[in-house]
Amino acid sequence: MRSLELDSAELEDLTSEVVQAVRRWNAELDLRPIAPASSGPQVLDLFGGGIPEAGLGHDALAFLPALLEHSRAQNGRFFGYVLGSAEPVAALGDFLASALNQNVTSWRSGPAAATIERALVDQLAGELGCDGFSGSFCGGGSSANLMGLAMARESKCAANEIGARPAVVYASSEAHMSIPKAVALLGLGRENLRLVSVDDRCKLRADVLREAIAEDLRAGRQPIAVVASAGTVNTGAVDPLDEIASIAREHELHLHVDGAYGGLAALADPARIGLLGVAETISFDLHKWLYQPVDCGLLLFRDRDLARRTFSYTDDYVTAFADDPLEAFAFFEESLELSRRFRALKAWLSLLYHGMRAYRASTGEDLERAQQLARKIQEHAELELLAPVELSVVCFRARGDRGVNVDELNRSILTTLNRRGRVYISNATIDGSFALRACLTNHRTSSGDLDVLVDEVLSAAASLTAD
Ligand SMILES: *Cc1c(COP(=O)(O)O)cnc(C)c1O
Repeated sequence: MRSLELDSAELEDLTSEVVQAVRRWNAELDLRPIAPASSGPQVLDLFGGGIPEAGLGHDALAFLPALLEHSRAQNGRFFGYVLGSAEPVAALGDFLASALNQNVTSWRSGPAAATIERALVDQLAGELGCDGFSGSFCGGGSSANLMGLAMARESKCAANEIGARPAVVYASSEAHMSIPKAVALLGLGRENLRLVSVDDRCKLRADVLREAIAEDLRAGRQPIAVVASAGTVNTGAVDPLDEIASIAREHELHLHVDGAYGGLAALADPARIGLLGVAETISFDLHKWLYQPVDCGLLLFRDRDLARRTFSYTDDYVTAFADDPLEAFAFFEESLELSRRFRALKAWLSLLYHGMRAYRASTGEDLERAQQLARKIQEHAELELLAPVELSVVCFRARGDRGVNVDELNRSILTTLNRRGRVYISNATIDGSFALRACLTNHRTSSGDLDVLVDEVLSAAASLTAD
């Protein structure tokens, strides 16, 4: 029987083989079909065989070529969802984080790790217009939104001891699905989530929000929070933060900003997002617009005391383990998570390597390229834009000939495109219509990649219309 402990030669051998696979992946990324031509049964057959009693040793790595072949190759022409292409220095940071295996529960559990995370959170908060905010990394925007709304509930309708009572939360009809999910999980009841209608730019209508609050108050219900989107997934719409903040202030509501997609654009162009610092809590996703490998969510909050009231089980946090406040610090008193991966390392390493300026420039380029793509689309009479391009999402479609079912045509274009594998896009529903949706949050995308995208769409449209 094998010992679980490897000798140094074995470890060296495995490491170099894995590094080679990573090299191959990076070198071939641009040539691979983005969506692999995999079928469910085929992949199950390759990987579903189970683990034998006797270990395979080095032969266990024989699966590496198949793993690469059946993975989605997110090169510069990947425009799907809100995701990038994993900045490689950050990927090395993730490898280091696993090897060091710091459990970032608190300073004591990993002095360097906790210090790096806190310093990076402080700096990002400052750069994002949220000076003085605290926070921590988490699994993603969904977790950050859940924590932000848990803080809202504890602040306005405390439930930790006595249980949740119905209370009303407001968000736009374009809000991400993680918001209704959080409202449900927090026991507030999805019936108490008001999905406020949006204007013709897909932004929450402040006048409708006011009316909705007034109506709930008249009916004796308790409004507790408003969620503003800083970049909706569908179209990248940014809700009017200032106006929403003043309504929230007037009614003493907790303002949570869902900036999982767009919040980090404030690094490049703060004016486009508005003042994030007006919120009580804000979600970000560094695995979206900071090009990090998944996962790397971030919640920022203004009031550490509220975070502690929400997430600390005992009052033990006040009884410091150490005299030094730095050494007494514990993330678990301010977060849902106890055992925590050293997520900050990848972001810290890659930011340190490239510098803030390079990140700002890349985000700025994404914003600019989205406008460029919109212009290219408008240059082609066969195509049309379906929504204004506010951040880096471009929603469009092929018009199709008269008499053709435009939704069906574009659905087929999407399937054809992704099956061909040269580009990858996703879809959205705009005013009830099927839209092709390209999102630019990818440091590998070049202007040439935009040309490929437009060419692919035009040729798919032409071939589908011809038959
Ligand atoms: C992606 C996204 C989320 C969810 O984030 P995950 O990291 O996928 O959990 C929430 N809100 C918005 C606006 C998003 O774009």
